[in-house]
Amino acid sequence: MAPLLTTVALNVTVIHVEQSRSAVPRIAEAARASAEYVAPLYGLPPDHPVTVLWLPREHWGSHTSLPYGFPSNSAGKEILPAVDIDPATELARLANLLSLEDMEAEERARFARLLGLPATASASDLDHHLRSSEAFYLDFCLDFILPHEIAHAFNNAANTARRPNWLHEWQAQIAAILVCRHRGQERQERLFRRYYRMMYEQGRSKVQHRTLPECIEAGYTAMGIENYAYFHGLLVAMYCQLEEEHGRGFGEKLLRVLLERTKGRPDISEAEVIALCSEAAGTDLTPWFRERWHMPAP
Ligand SMILES: [Zn+2]
Repeated sequence: MAPLLTTVALNVTVIHVEQSRSAVPRIAEAARASAEYVAPLYGLPPDHPVTVLWLPREHWGSHTSLPYGFPSNSAGKEILPAVDIDPATELARLANLLSLEDMEAEERARFARLLGLPATASASDLDHHLRSSEAFYLDFCLDFILPHEIAHAFNNAANTARRPNWLHEWQAQIAAILVCRHRGQERQERLFRRYYRMMYEQGRSKVQHRTLPECIEAGYTAMGIENYAYFHGLLVAMYCQLEEEHGRGFGEKLLRVLLERTKGRPDISEAEVIALCSEAAGTDLTPWFRERWHMPAP
């Protein structure tokens, strides 16, 4: 087995194999830039330390019990598949949720361009890309999943609200979108919003647990990566609706309200989540949560 090496760059530690050495500067920069933006949202210094485990398949099982490619945050470390070496098996299954052949030609051309493909790419070209492209999975893992996992780690480190669990996931999804924006990654921001929207809209007919309370009830690790991704798409859809209604600053405002109101209280009730969202929005969101998202669960 190739030994694991440790590379330290400023506040970021990357643990990787020799074969990934050329990817390390990009991994470290993505982690540094994410931390710089996310840490202050949780009241932490912008150079708060980050450790990224960039693991090829052969090392995966020694660090997590999840299947290869299912990313996670464990004991403050971000565990990601070394997609430059081994294809992102679990993440590639997310293509099963997308009905690419049903997309209008114009929409398909737009999605292709966001993926960096020619606008003439066919549904099967897109499907192939979303299952096996190293470039796509480097973008996805470093520009979206890594900031998402860093947000979890900082949320835990700051001891601000992280239960109910869906709030923990929701905050991380919002933070990842905001990191893309903060880094000026306009293409990535649009790509990931669209990708998650497709998972939510098209995955709906393909997954078992559809509403927010159903996803919560199912238990996240038991639901499998496709339903889990659908659930994350639902969280992005919730956020996008609020942002549309309450402005582009809503996400940051919500994260700040959560920081200020829940410091030292990792467990809050669903009613309190709704109250804090309402505070950030400046309007009572109880009916929106209840009617649109079946929350709080009856
Ligand atoms: Zn997460």
